[in-house]
Amino acid sequence: MAQGLRLVLFGPPGAGKGTQAQLLREHLNVAHISSGDLFRHHLGQGTELGLRAKEYMNKGELIPDEVTIDIILDKVMSIPNYDGFILDGFPRNPNQADVLEKKLSTESRNLDKVIHIDVSEPELLRRLGGRYICRACQSPHFIGSGEDASAKKCDQCGGELYQRDDDAPTAVKKRIEVYNTETTPVLGFYRERGVLVDISGDNPVDEVNKLVMAALGS
Ligand code: AMP
Repeated sequence: MAQGLRLVLFGPPGAGKGTQAQLLREHLNVAHISSGDLFRHHLGQGTELGLRAKEYMNKGELIPDEVTIDIILDKVMSIPNYDGFILDGFPRNPNQADVLEKKLSTESRNLDKVIHIDVSEPELLRRLGGRYICRACQSPHFIGSGEDASAKKCDQCGGELYQRDDDAPTAVKKRIEVYNTETTPVLGFYRERGVLVDISGDNPVDEVNKLVMAALGS
């Protein structure tokens, strides 16, 4: 049986990792694990983990590794050995990358590729300012400033759209700062291992998708 692809989508908040993951998971038939979606799910359910995560998420900070790593690795390792996965939002610091690598290597399943979607800061700010998420299926949508957001529904499932608390301007500023200081060192980690591919994510979704597919050799 062919081994499924093990992929990390990497990039700043607003780079389009979730959007590209959705397009890819249908194409590749692999699981999509989004750390942010998982925490938002817990937040919505009011679980203990959700309440703990909320204090960090709303400030735009990373949730501590003691909380994050086990829950994400459990998800990854629950995927059958021959199935692939797309990780989106994890790893977000060198320690997470290191622990993920060690855990995967215990079952001889290393990452095949890490795709870095690079987007300029003005474009990130524009996207995050108009980002609406479906409450039911988590699909991201962009609604321009001239459009009536209250009249829109999710184009995937018809669910209600909302703006994330951490897409408010002060949290966005913090999230970009955290990305630049804590997360970008992970790029060097994967570059050294020869699995990193950089693509430009400033373009429209379908053009970025073509670059992602080319990076995967499809
Ligand atoms: P995201 O939806 O990926 O932008 O994640 C939203 C928020 O969830 C982040 O700003 C962090 O507070 C938290 N989060 C998501 N993934 C991680 C991670 N790998 N490590 C720590 N915190 C995370």
